[in-house]
Amino acid sequence: MTEKVDYYEVLGVDRSASADDIAAACRKAARKYHPDLNPGNEEAVKKFKLCAEAYEVLKDPEKRDIYDRYGKAGLERNLGGGGFHDVSDIFGAFGDLFGDFFGGGVRSSGVRPGADVRCGVTLDLHEAAKGVTKEINFRRHEVCKTCSGSGAKPGTSPEVCKFCGGRGRVQQSTGIFSIQTTCPKCGGRGTVIAEPCFDCRGDGVVVEDVTLEVRVPAGVDSGVRLRVQGEGGRSPNGGPPGDCYVFIQIKKHPLFRREGQDLICQIPIGYAQAALGAEIEVPTLDGVEKITIAAGTQNGEIIRLKGRGMPTPRRNLTGDLLIQVFIEVPTKIKPEHEEILRKLAEYEGDSVLKERKSFGATLKEFLKDFFPERKNPEPADDEDDKGDKESKSNKDNK
Ligand SMILES: [Zn+2]
Ligand SMILES: [Zn+2]
Repeated sequence: MTEKVDYYEVLGVDRSASADDIAAACRKAARKYHPDLNPGNEEAVKKFKLCAEAYEVLKDPEKRDIYDRYGKAGLERNLGGGGFHDVSDIFGAFGDLFGDFFGGGVRSSGVRPGADVRCGVTLDLHEAAKGVTKEINFRRHEVCKTCSGSGAKPGTSPEVCKFCGGRGRVQQSTGIFSIQTTCPKCGGRGTVIAEPCFDCRGDGVVVEDVTLEVRVPAGVDSGVRLRVQGEGGRSPNGGPPGDCYVFIQIKKHPLFRREGQDLICQIPIGYAQAALGAEIEVPTLDGVEKITIAAGTQNGEIIRLKGRGMPTPRRNLTGDLLIQVFIEVPTKIKPEHEEILRKLAEYEGDSVLKERKSFGATLKEFLKDFFPERKNPEPADDEDDKGDKESKSNKDNK
């Protein structure tokens, strides 16, 4: 610290400032540059140290007088090394214990907030889609009823801590700052318990089962975490309660598969329905609904029902319901059905459809390129001739 500095400038006060003004300015500056509030900021640490140095000098009328008349050099001459500690000592010894001096704002007081707790809730898809109020059960710290949180055995009360005189903090001097730290004897409570409460063993809190009603917004998905403020553990010594985090799990639905905010439902239809078109019944989140399938619908085709999927939590946005049809091939058929199908196969043999025509052409090319020595049949026509006897393998080819 050999660079030229003006302590009054450092604290932002003028040379006639009173001791109170200086203390107030120092408090303000130190709060601003406190290392805890400026992590990783070297400049702030430097300024913080300078404030400490300035305060050390200006709070002391004798030192201030010497400084005013002879400057920093005068101080060093008059007081030697002994009167002027290295300010960095503060950080080694009292890194985070500036609490009271700086107004108690910096993780310092003995008051501890309650712990956060977590729990889970399982919903079915309908509950997730509409939103629901759910009862959840979990365990958290509650203020001990036996001792009303004092931690002392009923009939006794906590005694004033002799070590700190009940202030919860003790004075420690570094020679620069007079620093208050949390009392090591009572942990900042200011009181000690001679006879602890039997139920909480002096903690003032006990673990209890709690039931709570939680409003789950519409549209949540598995893995979403809801924060219920102030419903976590109670503080053992008058601090704020913790929060409760509720993790959402959604049960698998037998009909709907969820993808983001969209729902997918697979519906089997018959070959005739696909070919001729049909009106079919499909499930939605609001019940069964009739939709129309166009003639010539292909296997795997998707019919999109706009805005019939899942809502988005707290946003006016709803996904779609995707109905995917797949054409079901009967495994057993009645003789009269078989008759009709054989007729159909005959008909298909006469009028080769577009897809099969192009497939037939591609297959022909393939055989010519890779097996040129073979005498290749005409695939499209041949296939249809054998169709009746080999109906199974024929269908696989489609
Ligand atoms: Zn104490
Ligand atoms: Zn108790």
